[in-house]
Amino acid sequence: MPKHLKDPDLLRHQAYINGQWQDAENGATLPVINPATGEDLGSVPRCTANDARAAIAAAEAAFAVWRKVPLQERGAKLRRWGELIEEHIDDLCRILTLEQGKPLAEARGEILQGASYFPWFAEEIRRAYGDVVPAPRAGVRPLTQKQPIGVVGVITPWNFPSSMLPRKAAPAIAAGCTLVVKPASATPYCALALAELSRRAGIPAGVINVLTGDSGTIGREITQSPVVRKLSFTGSTEVGKQLAADCAPTLKRLSLELGGNAPFIVFDDAQLDAAVAGAVGSKFRNAGQTCICANRFLVQRGIHDAFVRGLKEKVDAFRVGNGLDAGVTIGPLINEEAVRRVDGLVQDALSKGATLLAGGKPHSMGPRFYEPTLLTGLTREMRIFREEIFGPVAAIMPFDTEEEAVSLANDTCFGLASYLFSRDLGRIWRVSEALQYGMVGINDVTLAAAETPFGGVKFSGMGREGSREGLNDYMETHLFLMGGIDN
Ligand code: NAP
Repeated sequence: MPKHLKDPDLLRHQAYINGQWQDAENGATLPVINPATGEDLGSVPRCTANDARAAIAAAEAAFAVWRKVPLQERGAKLRRWGELIEEHIDDLCRILTLEQGKPLAEARGEILQGASYFPWFAEEIRRAYGDVVPAPRAGVRPLTQKQPIGVVGVITPWNFPSSMLPRKAAPAIAAGCTLVVKPASATPYCALALAELSRRAGIPAGVINVLTGDSGTIGREITQSPVVRKLSFTGSTEVGKQLAADCAPTLKRLSLELGGNAPFIVFDDAQLDAAVAGAVGSKFRNAGQTCICANRFLVQRGIHDAFVRGLKEKVDAFRVGNGLDAGVTIGPLINEEAVRRVDGLVQDALSKGATLLAGGKPHSMGPRFYEPTLLTGLTREMRIFREEIFGPVAAIMPFDTEEEAVSLANDTCFGLASYLFSRDLGRIWRVSEALQYGMVGINDVTLAAAETPFGGVKFSGMGREGSREGLNDYMETHLFLMGGIDN
């Protein structure tokens, strides 16, 4: 792979601990595979518990210094990090597509979005105001100050390796925290390239440490350490619950960005073309492997057939293939297990009466590809109604009334993203306020941005990323109560 990069030094095969590139203490490694071809891309260290402890110690030592670095200087380094990402965008896209599979155009979008968090949080930290609080009694003056929470453990998933890490690292480092990062084992090279760029941007040793390897071993060190004061995790609900339990004995602050089961509601009065375009963007981006993917299409009966026709036309036009190839719009799934799981959901729906309009089986491109699939006749009894699909499968269900749509939409343990398409302002407010979701996309599906809070309710997690709330999640409010003033 290096020979295809303009800057081969961005491809790092070692962990980044205390500003040094290192092998695992015992030399063990972990292979990284290109999901489109099955080819071996290289290997990264399988870090040990001792390596993790060294990273935590480095982050602890760096915190004592970094928290005191003036805001202007912290901000300048963060801005430079973001600029370097943009300057190296072609190489970063290539690394992302090679290890994750998404088409290059999508890789570019993800990386630019990741870069956007750096300048935004570099500015927002300048507005991390405390309060001067009205005195509750004579002789005192209370005031509050925001302080960085400390060493933060960061665990990221494979589906957006180049934007999930910046979404956490930018606010954390702006706030004055230091990080111990464990990227997903399928996609470690994106995180290591970002670490290399952080070094070039002048982020000091120990402020960000990246450990690759076994999640159990590294996760245990992060969750059990009393030095780590917060865990920021993006991944599955199952692992998120386990990590929350593991963090309980040391009472860490938690940010959990977990799974979703997004309803995509189309009312009769919706603008059809916009709803179809939104459906394509929301459902099929990253081959359907996004936490905010539309998972259940709920379509009012009057527009149902036209919506299905419009979506089928788009689904038939997808080009499945290697994300490096021009014109490819859908890449592979992350591994063969993902293909088996998605196919299991489709076969379950078909066995319970769904109608297949497109796709419906693994793709002839190879063992990690799945055909873009369109199903109608979705019912509550099908697994696809309850479970996160994480694949290029759209399942549509008709409904009659607004109340029915809301009831179907909320009939899930998840509460991350939801979407509704309508032009009736009263209905938009009623339904938006009734949806039990952290985010509601109204006639629009692009939810993530540096400026806006991203996160879920119920089993989709807690905390928000992006926006001033995302910065607050890396700070504690400290009270200074001054007494003896009026005596
Ligand atoms: P995952 O299996 O939960 O893994 C996520 C991360 O957790 C990986 O780095 C993984 O490491 C690590 N991990 C797994 N078991 C662990 C353990 N016992 N201790 C410590 N770390 C552990 O999820 P995924 O399959 O990578 O990602 C897909 C899921 O993420 C979906 O459910 C999706 O909805 C969710 N997601 C949510 C958001 C959001 O913002 N809400 C965004 C993106 C994705 P290894 O790879 O080494 O196992």
